[in-house]
Amino acid sequence: MGFMLGWAFYTLSSGLSGDLMAKKAIRDIETGMVFDHIKPGYGTRISDVLKRRLWSEKRCPVYTGEGVKSSAMGEKDFVKLDGPHLEPGSDTLSEIALIQPDITVNWIKKGERTGKKPARECIGDIIHTDLIGCGNTNCIANDEAPGIYEVLDKDSLRVRCHYCERVFEAKYNGK
Ligand SMILES: [Zn+2]
Repeated sequence: MGFMLGWAFYTLSSGLSGDLMAKKAIRDIETGMVFDHIKPGYGTRISDVLKRRLWSEKRCPVYTGEGVKSSAMGEKDFVKLDGPHLEPGSDTLSEIALIQPDITVNWIKKGERTGKKPARECIGDIIHTDLIGCGNTNCIANDEAPGIYEVLDKDSLRVRCHYCERVFEAKYNGK
């Protein structure tokens, strides 16, 4: 919470635009990741995914900047992860891409950006997730079994269900 209040104060007092703030977030991290250009309102969903998936093993700071000014988007959220580097293809990055495929994923090392990709390109070939439901309403993936999907096309997000083999376009269920 302190971080968010800090950011709000920083914006008011400095008049920095959101783009500069995101750049500052990159400089402020020694090692970690910045998720940028998040549609306003979705920042906390992205940070929820990070906390749910990473904190079961090891806690690391996750900061959310909400409703900051953006030259490209008008307004945006961003999320900063201090410490871990997530690999493209991991279930964590796949879930983030399912929520919003057009987020910019930045990898930071020693305060410098060492990599940048749209979230869509970080989706794995197989995703384990309950953030989408199977297109077949009778499928066990929708209630008792954990969702497992093979990704057929990363642009259209066409997937095939592991259990019933239904092919459909993945749609974030808002959970
Ligand atoms: Zn299914």
